[in-house]
Amino acid sequence: MENCVADRATSARFLDNVHENDAVENASLAFSKKIGNISLKKRRIRVMTRNLIILGSGPAGLTAAIYAARSNRAPLVIEGIQPGGQLTITADVENYPGFPDAITGPQLMDGMRRQAVRFGAEIISGNVSSVDFSKRPFVINVDNDRHEASAVIIATGATAQWLGLESEKKLIGKGVSGCATCDAFFFRDQNVVVVGGGDTALEDAMFLTKFAKMVTVVHRRDELRATKILQDRAKSNPKIKFAWKKVVDDILDVKQGKVTAVRLKDVESKNISEMKCDGVFVAIGYKPNTELLKGQIALDEKGYIVTKKSTMETSIPGVFAAGDVQDSYYKQAITAAGTGCMAAIDAERYLSVV
Ligand code: NAP
Repeated sequence: MENCVADRATSARFLDNVHENDAVENASLAFSKKIGNISLKKRRIRVMTRNLIILGSGPAGLTAAIYAARSNRAPLVIEGIQPGGQLTITADVENYPGFPDAITGPQLMDGMRRQAVRFGAEIISGNVSSVDFSKRPFVINVDNDRHEASAVIIATGATAQWLGLESEKKLIGKGVSGCATCDAFFFRDQNVVVVGGGDTALEDAMFLTKFAKMVTVVHRRDELRATKILQDRAKSNPKIKFAWKKVVDDILDVKQGKVTAVRLKDVESKNISEMKCDGVFVAIGYKPNTELLKGQIALDEKGYIVTKKSTMETSIPGVFAAGDVQDSYYKQAITAAGTGCMAAIDAERYLSVV
């Protein structure tokens, strides 16, 4: 069978729940045809129908998978481009309950993954190329496979925006971080820079002052985007100073494999200056991973999925959302896992009546 992401052996144990069809549409018939000198090869597409498909394999997706699998729904998890989600780029996780001596992000995600599989979830890799929630069963196209499901949980997460510097990429986890709550502890009595002028940047800066010696907020304008109350608090904090109208032009020192300074560019004069520091926290906003969902379900003005009050149901009955893809506020692993659990319970209730 050509281009099947899920192999038959793995799927066999789900056959009670998985209804497999070979696609009957013209486009999916497998054959080769010769017209003149042109050889046409049509691909065979396998259509797999499930009770429940979960998009995303971060804490929200895998928690949903654990709960759904324990309800005998044999969910299919499509793990996406960053298996395990944002936690896989986090070193020590010290605030996830139950791990008093900390656990690394990859270890935590590996544990969740194995727990989901143990109860009957199937996890496949692949890029979701399109979805169709306009009819039932819902359709999810993954590369060249078509998956159908009675219910869907979207847990595709959000992507922290990065500055896009080569040095930033090389120093992530070596002094460059996108999560102050996760990594502030490692900067005790050190000098750190926070990039950004929104609520996250100022909250990060204030959180960092509990550990760091001095925090410099580097902002590209001379006016903050953050709410007034946070601005007042940050500006009156003696451990926070501001570098206005500056952007980070480079982070040093890739050769040493650690952060030693930032090179700042003044946005008006274009002058370059260097500021010594031990860490750089990038807080320039998040982007929910909802590109594929535009026009399919209700999104808010920032692109986050809108869920109904007190449930994880989206604007489409049978489609649920969990984790950072629907949360622009808390953005924690534990809250993602919590909403993953809620989404699975909501999906179970939905499936038991359809
Ligand atoms: P945000 O509000 O979009 O702010 C992003 C900041 O980063 C802006 O100051 C922006 O500058 C700057 N920025 C963007 N791209 C940049 C670049 N390439 N180089 C340098 N600077 C750049 O994002 P956020 O602070 O993460 O907040 C996201 C949402 O969560 C907001 O709705 C916020 O209110 C909410 N939130 C709320 C709280 C709270 O209420 N306690 C806490 C955290 C987050 P400009 O200002 O010049 O555009």
